[in-house]
Amino acid sequence: MDKKTRTIAAHKHVALVAHDNCKKDLLAWVSTNKAKLQKHFLYATGTTGHLLSKETGLAIKSLISGPMGGDQQLGALISEQEIDVLVFFWDPLNSVPHDPDVKALLRIASVWNIPVATNQASADVIFASPLMDSEFDIEIPDYEAYLNKRT
Ligand code: PGA
Repeated sequence: MDKKTRTIAAHKHVALVAHDNCKKDLLAWVSTNKAKLQKHFLYATGTTGHLLSKETGLAIKSLISGPMGGDQQLGALISEQEIDVLVFFWDPLNSVPHDPDVKALLRIASVWNIPVATNQASADVIFASPLMDSEFDIEIPDYEAYLNKRT
């Protein structure tokens, strides 16, 4: 598919998600990185968002809980280009009932080429980037050009 450019603003829309066994790790990471995170607009799946806002005081827009559709809700927001960065501490050692939704979320984040951190080390690297404080361009699928070619 053809590509076009989307500009990600300096103030980013950051989504935070953690599976149950990883919530402690995400809470620790968010607490350590609170100053960096509060420069951005924060979203989270239901239980993650409730925990993080209660424990850190950060303003977070909580979506539906992951197993109840929150991963799909987040995927829809990514497709609508409403989310710029995904921090998703998914559990590599245990299966979850909504495994297809997890896979779909990771897939759609790749389709829309947003930065994704799946663990503490990758989250550290992304948030150490100067691009987190400035605008930058990413390539995204150009669906209109694709449609025009077909008609
Ligand atoms: P939760 O969902 O934040 O509601 O626990 C996360 C997930 O399991 O994807």
